[in-house]
Amino acid sequence: MVVKIQTIRDIKLYLREELNGLYPETEIIAFTNLIKTKFRFTKLQMFSFPESPVTGKQAAEIARICMELKTGRPIQYIIGETRFYNCTIKVNSSTLIPRPETEELVDLIIKENRGFTGSLLDIGTGSGAIAIALAINMPGSAVTGTDISDPALDIARENAVLNKASVTFTMSDMLNSGILILPGTDIIVSNPPYVRESEKSRMEKNVLDFEPHSALFVPDAEPLKFYKAILEIAQRILVMHGKIYFEINETLGKEMSDMLASEGYSEIRVINDINGKERFVTGIKND
Ligand code: SAM
Ligand code: GLN
Repeated sequence: MVVKIQTIRDIKLYLREELNGLYPETEIIAFTNLIKTKFRFTKLQMFSFPESPVTGKQAAEIARICMELKTGRPIQYIIGETRFYNCTIKVNSSTLIPRPETEELVDLIIKENRGFTGSLLDIGTGSGAIAIALAINMPGSAVTGTDISDPALDIARENAVLNKASVTFTMSDMLNSGILILPGTDIIVSNPPYVRESEKSRMEKNVLDFEPHSALFVPDAEPLKFYKAILEIAQRILVMHGKIYFEINETLGKEMSDMLASEGYSEIRVINDINGKERFVTGIKND
């Protein structure tokens, strides 16, 4: 059987037929949903009227997307956007695709800081996903995002406009922190590169082949170099009793909590992600 894409319902049938064996069913469903979001089909159309027509142009576009999926290129890069928390986030080859774990980090910060008013800094912001989701869901916050990559910052700025979020994006090299002076920051959040070079062999090929390595990898000898740099920045700009939230390599929870303790942080917690891995560390600055 050869499926022709004529209605919304056909999208999944087509992808299932074309990608059978290449991707698991759960991923095919996720692809279908992202494609439907890209075409801005309404929930009503998708759920109550799956027989709604798909135009010839849209059908051709879906066939093209499907061909690219066969090369292993991530769907988010192919269609140029993804969903993150309650935001639509554009991505390209200069930005990491924001991960579900990072949505958990955002959720934690929002839930632990209800009614927050103050300034918040996202270091290594990439697509701006964290900064934008926090700005929208913590309306009393003044959010800044920094990154070393100018092309990533361009996308982050586009994403702020797309999501009607007020965020300031600034170029800054966290390893050369003199460039950024933002005294009086109340909350610092960061998901810096944390995958050790030696962990490459265990990574998915589509991550290695398509995502920016400068967003992912750290040398084996210095796996915490970005966290050290951020804590130095925090020493200067985070207010007393200000909070820090990190996403971390699941194998380095102990080292991270020790490092926060030696820097004088209190109420340090290592928090598991949905897969039971030590994925987040948080603490309060105390001296
Ligand atoms: N915050 C985004 C997210 O969670 O999806 C992106 C996180 S990605 C793991 C790390 C980010 O740190 C990348 O966007 C990368 O460009 C940035 N980065 C790498 N080295 C940096 C440096 N020296 N200074 C500032 N940002 C840096
Ligand atoms: N969680 C990402 C991955 O496994 C890594 C993100 C990071 O290095 N901060 O690909």
